[in-house]
Formats: sequence, structure tokens, C-alpha cells
Amino acid sequence: MVLFYFSCVPVFAFEEPTDKPIKSNLDNQTITMCVDPNWLPYEKINSKNEHIGIAADYLELLTKHTGVKFELIVTQSWADSQKYVQQGKCQILSLLNKTPERSKYLNFTQPYLRAVVVLVGQQSTNFISGLTSISNQTLAVVEGYIYLNYIRKNFPNINIILVDRMEDTLVAVAKGNADLAIASMPVALHFISELGLSNLKIVGNTDIINDLRIGVHKSQPKLVSLLDQAISEIDPVNIAKIKRRWRQVRIESGTDYVMVFRIVLIFIIILAFFLYRYFILQRFSKKQNALNIELQVANQKLTYLSSTDYLTKIANRAKIESLLKREVARCQRYLNSFVLIIFDIDYFKKVNDTRGHQIGDRVLIDIANRANSVLRDSDFIGRWGGEEFLIVCPNSNINGAKVLAEKLRNNFCQLNIEGCKVTVSFGLAEFRIDDSVEDIIFRADKALYQAKDTGRNKVVLESDIT
Ligand code: GH3
Ligand code: MG
Ligand code: MG
Repeated sequence: MVLFYFSCVPVFAFEEPTDKPIKSNLDNQTITMCVDPNWLPYEKINSKNEHIGIAADYLELLTKHTGVKFELIVTQSWADSQKYVQQGKCQILSLLNKTPERSKYLNFTQPYLRAVVVLVGQQSTNFISGLTSISNQTLAVVEGYIYLNYIRKNFPNINIILVDRMEDTLVAVAKGNADLAIASMPVALHFISELGLSNLKIVGNTDIINDLRIGVHKSQPKLVSLLDQAISEIDPVNIAKIKRRWRQVRIESGTDYVMVFRIVLIFIIILAFFLYRYFILQRFSKKQNALNIELQVANQKLTYLSSTDYLTKIANRAKIESLLKREVARCQRYLNSFVLIIFDIDYFKKVNDTRGHQIGDRVLIDIANRANSVLRDSDFIGRWGGEEFLIVCPNSNINGAKVLAEKLRNNFCQLNIEGCKVTVSFGLAEFRIDDSVEDIIFRADKALYQAKDTGRNKVVLESDIT
């Protein structure tokens, strides 16, 4: 739509245009001028009481060309401007349509701008092919605009709502107080954009064309012919520049901020959603990691506790039993051998009875530490129960294990806990290929009993059993 914005073409009868100033006796004369104070992009009186818009730029060209200066007489409305010119308070109206009514007190130059007049409605309004197609709809019109008399005369069935200013017609439609508004196309586009009335659109055209000219009070007949001549002679390049300038203004202010805001808002919402998800996932995975680590630590603790003797910190019965089973299976598969050593502290009950349980515990701990210090890395030791211990010596034969057992026995003899000394008895059995776990334990146990029965503090092999 922006592209048609200035489809309104200045109408010039260009013949050999030249910008040479015209000599006249009106040179340097100041002419009072009334304008429409609120009709951008055509014209407007801004907050500094200056005349701006296409008409203002155009009149500046006319001043350069003719030497005639235009002094703005400030008014509040278009209706006032028309009254002023009738009352002689101003000598020209800068830009208006020619009507028989106005011709009573004004002479007109030839038109210098042309624009189609359109109908504006809400987005939901169906296309309207002209004023004839309006039925039972209300139309907002600015008081004093030429459309008013034209419509009243030719379309008496249209319900008219009168307003003071151009933007009021559009706001009335946007708010639903009127069905339609009538406006020159560039003006309609300008206000829809400036007021951000995004629920409005051009819904149809009319057969009205705005041929806009300068109206000169009848008291200034020479002025009208001078201006008319200037309009004919002004270089169209300059006109094109003016149009371009005001089109740029329109494009800049025509940015659909509502749409931009919506897009930015949607983008922010989507971004926020993904960021939120990302942070939640991050937090969740951090929590998950912390939990996993906690769980790992707990499981490690559990594994340790479930396989370690609480007092001596060596393998407990369950653990040493499973190691023993594994060793039996391994040796059966690879036809290997190992030796099982069972040892038991002699007269330990007496230690508890005479020295107390605490000393007894310390003896048990010391025995375990001493055993660990003597054993090879490949040997496993565990507490079988009470004061009885079990050692698995992989890849050993009975003689090698006997040496180890003797070493242990001697070491244990050196134990001295607050004057408390103990001796230990040992039973040894070597793995046989068809042995079960119970079989080898049974034979080692038997050897241990023989050691007990034959005086204690000694190492007995299964082969020694009598
Ligand atoms: P033997 O030479 O025939 O083995 O005599 P013993 O007194 O060592 O054997 P007995 O089976 O009669 O006694 C074992 C004692 O070991 C009984 C119990 O009080 C003690 N005992 C078992 N576990 C613990 C323990 O964890 N701490 C302490 N302090 N004593 C224990
Ligand atoms: Mg004992
Ligand atoms: Mg015992």
C-alpha cells in the first residue's frame, strides 16, 4: 500500500518548464494564508505553528518562483480556515478542492495535486465497490470537507457521523463507533499508520477524485493568475523531490510497530521458553549428577560394608567364601591348585575372660594386621567367624603354604597387647581337582582340630592327619 501512497499525481501542464522567477508587481508582497491544520501528508500546522507537508514545500517553491511570501494564519480546524478566508482574515487557502460553493468567494488555480478518495473500514469489513454500495452503514466525515455535501446530495441514505478532525473519523471506525470513514488515500494511510490503527484497512474506493489547488480570495485576481502561471512553470523534478521526501516520512512512520512489537514479543516468549527449558534441564542434570555421585558413594560404601569385617577390616565371611568359591572354580577350569589355611587363636575365651572383651578385640585386630603384613598380594584373608580366620593361597602348593603358615605363627607369637600374648593353631589343605568348597574346608578344619588336639600353637597339614 505504501507504494500507492503518492499515486496522487501533481497535475501540471508542463510546457518548457523553467524555474526563472516571474516578474510581477506582487514581488515581495506578503499574502496571508490559511491551511488545513491537520491533513498530513498534505499539510499540517505543527507544534511550533509552522506550516509543514507537501503543500508547505510546494508553496516555498512558489515563493522562490514568484517572490510572493505567504504568511500563515494559524487556525484550529479546516472549518475555521474556510471561515477566515470568507471573512478576509486570510487571502488564500493553500490546498483544496474546487466547489461551486467555494467559487462564490474564491478563485482557483489549476490543480497541483491529485489523489483518489477511499473508504476505510475495519479489517473484517468486506470490499465496498463505491459509495453506491453502502447500505445501512454509518460513515464518519469531517465537518467542512467537500465529501459531506456531495454525499448528502447524492447518497441521502448513508448515515453520516460528523467529526471535527480527520483522525477522529478513523478512530471512530477503529472503535466501532462508525462503520466507515472517507479520506484521501495518502491521508488515510498517514493517519492509520501514525495512530497505529492496525485493525483498519482500505475497504473500497469512491468515484471522488481530489483535484487540489490553491484558492485565492476574489479580492486578489492578479495573484491567482500569477500563481497559476508559476504552477505551470515549476520544474517537475522539484515536485518529485517533495513527493519523495514526504513518502520517506510516511515509510518511516509507517513501520507497523504493533506488528514489530508482536514479532519481538513472540520471539522473546519462544526464547524465554527455550532458556527456561535449558536452565531446568541444566539444574535437573546437575541434581541428577549429584544424586548419581551420592548413589555411587553409597553403593561403594555398601559394597565395602557388605564384604568387610566390621572389627578387623579384612574380608568378612561372605566375601572370603565367595573368593574361595571363585578360586575353586578357577582351579577346576585351569587345572590349577591352591592351598587353604584355617587358623584359630588358642584359648581365646580365656583372653576375654581374664583381660576383657576390649583387649580380645584388639588382639583380633592385631592378628588381622599381622597376617596382612606377611601375606603376598595374591593371597586372600578373611575372618571366618569368632577368632577363626581363613587364608586362600592361589598358585601355591602345600609346602609353600606351610612355610607361610609357620611365618604367620611365629609372627603371631610376637603379639603383645598390654601384656596379653596369644598362640595360634593352623590347619592346611591343598585343592584336589574334584574338591567342592566344603570338601577342602572340611580337610583344613580337620587338620586344625588335630593341631588343637596335639598341643596347639602349631601348623598341621592334611597329610599329617592320622
Ligand atoms: P581353642 O583353643 O579350643 O580354640 O579355645 P578357645 O577358647 O579359643 O575356643 P572357644 O570356641 O571356646 O572360644 C572362642 C571365644 O572367642 C569365644 C568368644 O568369647 C570369643 N570371641 C569370638 N568372637 C569374638 C570377638 O569378636 N571379640 C572378642 N573379644 N571375643 C570373641
Ligand atoms: Mg580358639
Ligand atoms: Mg574357634
